[in-house]
Amino acid sequence: MAPSFQELFGHPPEFVAHTPGRVNLIGEHTDYNGGFVLPMAIPQQTHVELRRRQDSKVRAFSVNKSRAGEVLEFELGQEAHDRGWLDYVQGVTQVLRREGHALSGFEVRISSEVPLGSGLSSSASLDVCLLRALREAFSLPIDEVRLAQLGQKVENDFVGAPVGVMDPMAVHIAGQGSALFLDTRDMRYERVPLPPGLDPIVINSGVTHSVAGGDYRTRRAECERAAAMLGVAQLRDLTEADLPRAETLPDPLGRRVRHVVTENARVLATVEALRGGDLRRLGTLFYASHDSQRLDYDVSVPEIDLLVDLARADADVYGARLTGGGFGGSVVMMAREGTGAAVATRIAQSYAARSGQRPTILVPQSAGA
Ligand code: ADP
Ligand code: MG
Repeated sequence: MAPSFQELFGHPPEFVAHTPGRVNLIGEHTDYNGGFVLPMAIPQQTHVELRRRQDSKVRAFSVNKSRAGEVLEFELGQEAHDRGWLDYVQGVTQVLRREGHALSGFEVRISSEVPLGSGLSSSASLDVCLLRALREAFSLPIDEVRLAQLGQKVENDFVGAPVGVMDPMAVHIAGQGSALFLDTRDMRYERVPLPPGLDPIVINSGVTHSVAGGDYRTRRAECERAAAMLGVAQLRDLTEADLPRAETLPDPLGRRVRHVVTENARVLATVEALRGGDLRRLGTLFYASHDSQRLDYDVSVPEIDLLVDLARADADVYGARLTGGGFGGSVVMMAREGTGAAVATRIAQSYAARSGQRPTILVPQSAGA
């Protein structure tokens, strides 16, 4: 049993905050190119309990990461890199203080149902949950979009993960049952309800990724280079009419551009399909997005492709695709209403038998882990 806040710190917490993980329905690797994304919150959440201290010491415990009873500490103003998961807590305090917000020390207990490192944004869920708890505890004047941007800053500036703004916006703003259609260039957003007839499924492949790793960084750099060579500020500025010109760039830049440009168009088409209840069209767009990630963006792996192929062969599935940064992680599928739990179980079983990996069914939660 994990220790309670009372057991760890000798008194009850003053504040609690909860923040879900997210699954991106479509719009992958578009957020750092100024493009469109369409994430949705998942049922699993991160929970933060917090109590202010009189001094400037921060004492932190994570049920997911800490060894039994081991509380880590640091002093505000003396945040130091490379302390593992504590970097997310240190990043939050450093970013807030550099923005001019006054904090005292605090005690914090973190626990999360969002699987760590599975492409469901446990890290943004943690950043945002900490920011929400601290905003309340210290009455900080931070609006909703700014809070998400601070979450991104924590990862960019302190943790060293060059992630875009989609993840913190999704976990902070999306909510369940509708997707968040977000234009990452001007941060305008709109909630798009899922039409009736759909059961979303998320299966974690059991193959892990790390976005702090080099591949994500390489993709970002390739996009920046391609944009510069094509004379635009961001790949968002291009349309399908620019693709013939993009294809003259040295490989793989042309393929990277093609993914981003066609993926932005697919997000817009998916929003229309959701609004019109066109589930077949939605499914076709999911598979097209997967193929684009696999062939043009080179972010899939054989295990993920196997999960998508099993979905393609299943008559109850409309569409499936790799979700999240890639190189492992999770697949999102849309199944016919009422079939989600059974479909997820049979696909996970065939996948386990063929790949030797241990998949986890994350959505629907009732399908079991
Ligand atoms: P993702 O965000 O897709 O789950 P990341 O690699 O971006 O994957 O983030 C995972 C990292 O975030 C973990 O290795 C850990 O350092 C940190 N983290 C996330 N949730 C928690 C938690 N509940 N407790 C401690 N650290 C966490
Ligand atoms: Mg993350």
